[in-house]
Amino acid sequence: MEIPGQIARRVANLVLPDTCVMDGALARAADGATFDNISPRDGRVLNKVPACGVADVDRAVAAARAAFEDGRWRRQSPKDKKKTLFRLAELMERDLDDLALMESLDTGKPISDATNVDIPLAIQSVRWYAEALDKIYGEVGPSNDSKFSYAVHEPLGVIGAITPWNFPLHMAMWKVAPALAMGNSVVLKPAEQSPLTSMRVAQLAIEAGLPAGVFNVVTGFGRPVGEALARHMDVDMITFTGSGAVGRQLMIYAGESNLKRVSLELGGKSPQIVFADCPDLDAAAEAAAWGVFFNQGEVCTAASRLLVQDSIKDDFLRRVTEVARTIKVGDPLDPSTRYGAMISERQMNTALRHIDQSKSEGLNLVLGGERVMAETGGFYVEPTIFDGVHSRSTIAREEIFGPVLGVMTFKDAAEAVQIANDTVYGLASGLWTADLDRAMSMTRRLRAGLVWVNGWDSCDITMPFGGFKQSGFGRDRSLHALHKYADLKSVTFTLREAR
Ligand code: NAD
Repeated sequence: MEIPGQIARRVANLVLPDTCVMDGALARAADGATFDNISPRDGRVLNKVPACGVADVDRAVAAARAAFEDGRWRRQSPKDKKKTLFRLAELMERDLDDLALMESLDTGKPISDATNVDIPLAIQSVRWYAEALDKIYGEVGPSNDSKFSYAVHEPLGVIGAITPWNFPLHMAMWKVAPALAMGNSVVLKPAEQSPLTSMRVAQLAIEAGLPAGVFNVVTGFGRPVGEALARHMDVDMITFTGSGAVGRQLMIYAGESNLKRVSLELGGKSPQIVFADCPDLDAAAEAAAWGVFFNQGEVCTAASRLLVQDSIKDDFLRRVTEVARTIKVGDPLDPSTRYGAMISERQMNTALRHIDQSKSEGLNLVLGGERVMAETGGFYVEPTIFDGVHSRSTIAREEIFGPVLGVMTFKDAAEAVQIANDTVYGLASGLWTADLDRAMSMTRRLRAGLVWVNGWDSCDITMPFGGFKQSGFGRDRSLHALHKYADLKSVTFTLREAR
């Protein structure tokens, strides 16, 4: 596929990283192995990336442990740590256009999203946690004159971060930034589908002056790299975003090794509920369409179940479909594209299989349903809407992680809550209503870690992010994420009378 004129020069000048970072230096796999890093834009090989193994994980963890134990980062003053992290944010900002281009090539997401959403949000995480790191206070306990007790937050040690491909750098920085800000060392394993921006940011961390061994990036596949990290006796915590299947494995690995902590950000089947008294049906229709089609549906909070009150169903579905029709599939590198390729052939086939399954279950295909632009070699699927979905439909139960919306109806608030909560997941939920009492009572009854009223995905880094039920546990974002990477130590002095 020809590269659009305005971006061709940038692509030609782009140097793709092809090394890991271990102990403050660029590194390759010990046995020299590499794998082909494929761009979903056209199915072509972008570059070769180290296919690390267990020995490489051991090396990175040893470097991280040594850095933690001698305190080269942990024991720096908050002021100095902050300076280094701010410097890293500045370097990411300096290289924003390159990072965005890499992210778009690596994932197939529109260059406009990578430039305006992914990379700026990753930079924001680094800045936010740098700003926060000296605003964490301990506690002084109540005691009589013969005691003095206090509790302090201490870093956990070596954090293993295993991250997904849907927002590669953004998700990585939700984890790496608070873990570093707390004084830990980190070994990051980015998803094999999209390792480039993590590899580059690890290089920038060296340039920013982060001491050697504090932030390591090891590339490769879930097995062996992710597994070796999660089974490692010298890793104190695994922080993960990805599938429930791997989340389960990580808990087993932790149980079978050193009982390391595990924090899991898994998927969802998030409901967006629209009542007939919705204060702005056009805004709700925009949110219903973009809530599921943004990032080609590859979002853990995707609003993949649309619940509409039966009296407005036909009118509302027409509005949502009109918005969805304007979402044109396009070349991710074209700056006007707002909807690009799916991450991989496998992920595309998962979406197409669910579409076929829905047809065979007799659901009503309202829009889309096809692979398009196949001649490019890339993995593109149209925004797809099914009507007549019910609670037992496969697409109402299984996470697709693709651009497929299922529309359901309800008659009143009680039924809306019942349908919304009828899922093993509990990540995000949303409702549109002008009735304050109804909104308040619904927010209490929805079993989800995130509830948005009259908007979708309407909060930011200041608020905790994470799920109930099988959507996982532990929170990214907010000060809670800083605490996640710390232990609490209680100290008590027994005092004698002053002489
Ligand atoms: P995945 O869970 O397999 O991969 C996520 C990360 O885990 C990657 O870095 C991968 O290398 C690593 N991993 C894989 N197997 C591992 C193992 N045994 N031990 C340790 N690490 C391991 O996700 P996927 O296969 O790329 O995508 C499949 C599904 O996962 C998607 O369809 C979607 O439902 C879900 N997913 C969710 C999110 C999210 O944001 N919650 C992100 C990506 C994928």
